[in-house]
Amino acid sequence: MTSTDSLALSAAATSNGRDLLTAGTFGVINPATGEVFAQAPSVTPDQLDEVFAAAQNAYTSWRINEEFRRDALRQAADVIESRISELAPILTFEQGKSLADSTMEFHIAATWLRYYADLEIPREIIRNDAEAFEEVTRRPLGVVSAITPWNFPITLAMWKIAPALRAGNTIVVKPSPYTPLATLALARILRGTFPDGVLNVVTGPDPLGATMVSHPVPRKVSFTGSTAVGRKVALGAADDLKRVTLELGGNDPAVILGDVDVEKIAPSLFRSAFTNNGQICLAIKRVYAHESIQPQLVEALSEIARSVKVDEGTVEGTELGPINNKPQFERVKELIADAVSNGARATAGGKTIDRDGYFHQPTILDQVNDGMRIVDEEQFGPVLPIISFRDEADAIVRANRSEYGLTASVWSGDADHAAQLAPQFEAGQVSINAHGAGVLPHLPFGGHKHSGVGVENGPWGLHSFTELQVIAGPSRQ
Ligand code: NAD
Repeated sequence: MTSTDSLALSAAATSNGRDLLTAGTFGVINPATGEVFAQAPSVTPDQLDEVFAAAQNAYTSWRINEEFRRDALRQAADVIESRISELAPILTFEQGKSLADSTMEFHIAATWLRYYADLEIPREIIRNDAEAFEEVTRRPLGVVSAITPWNFPITLAMWKIAPALRAGNTIVVKPSPYTPLATLALARILRGTFPDGVLNVVTGPDPLGATMVSHPVPRKVSFTGSTAVGRKVALGAADDLKRVTLELGGNDPAVILGDVDVEKIAPSLFRSAFTNNGQICLAIKRVYAHESIQPQLVEALSEIARSVKVDEGTVEGTELGPINNKPQFERVKELIADAVSNGARATAGGKTIDRDGYFHQPTILDQVNDGMRIVDEEQFGPVLPIISFRDEADAIVRANRSEYGLTASVWSGDADHAAQLAPQFEAGQVSINAHGAGVLPHLPFGGHKHSGVGVENGPWGLHSFTELQVIAGPSRQ
């Protein structure tokens, strides 16, 4: 089977275990060419009634049998892994990332499904003595609306699907219009693994997302995307008091102390900033480097940046593909131009790559300062500013001076010292001598401040798809 053959997997939305027929379609652009290469179904806001009704109907029986659900999650993991060679190219064509990175997303999806299938949820019996019985239980919410962005369409969808279904909810997922296809294909290959109506996927241009939020059936909205849209989601959900989890933007700092071994940390630092072209909510977006090592660090990172292979994701050995979409491509150019016009120096990259599509050189910026847009805003692209600092305490104050608070890291030759500084960061996760070290199925992931509301992953992520219920009465001894 060739890569384009597998596109048939994304030909239709999945509602109630079947194709949902749509009158229209919309074009999906391959960011490596800038051209439309496929059509995705345009589900209209009106058609959502049918989809949510199917999910509501399926909820009645899906919520009952926990062991059945756990088995289905395990089977889904096996199905996904058995079909990665068909699925990964679809993701690469629409997202731009390398085939290796696309393959990884589907493995992550399987890992999350197995983690939630195996997670033990102990009964919480608070009291059971001669006089009384008291138990705190968790009930599923019902139908969940899940809305995802274009940077990690499969991983981020599964961070919602696996815990939501494990908890007994049913779900309707809407991927970004930039990357609808892989999620459609995922739902299609899982038809029959989950009972009809349990996992539904719809695609279409906005305002489909807003309708997913305001629709009366779903009891929860789980949203990953920008802070600006997250605010709208919170407002839309407030109307009928839907529960929300919001995973939003970040401007994640890394503080590098003067006692680090620069050559040793540079590759890891680079990866943490540039993987997926920097289009990761938790990518390092600004580095504060002690003045004693800042020039050496700039040079080490620049050397790596110059050696990275940037090409189409389908080309063997590609490390970074194109930026996903034109507005994001333009934004990265604009932020670099703004920095350079304000005195920054690109020590590596700095320019677009002269070919079709949205290719940009990985860029390191020196002579940057707080107050420049590239430092103060979320760039979400392949460019990293390296800011010099003298005083450790001041660096942390500057790192915290942001509306965001998703992740942060502190790097030092003395890990104990770094660990003492870690709690001073205003972020949902703080890593020591690494970045994003806590992004694992069993640990909570979520933002402080404007980076989010609530968390995903671990038992905490599952809890957010449930509501507490107390059962109290006479002794059951
Ligand atoms: P976006 O906010 O523009 O879009 C996200 C999703 O929301 C898309 O599916 C879009 O169609 C939908 N949408 C648009 N308007 C809507 C509305 N009014 N109501 C409901 N849904 C609506 O974000 P994006 O550009 O796709 O993704 C990039 C952003 O996502 C970055 O800010 C990044 O930091 C953030 N992100 C956060 C996390 C996290 O876990 N915190 C992870 C990945 C990406």
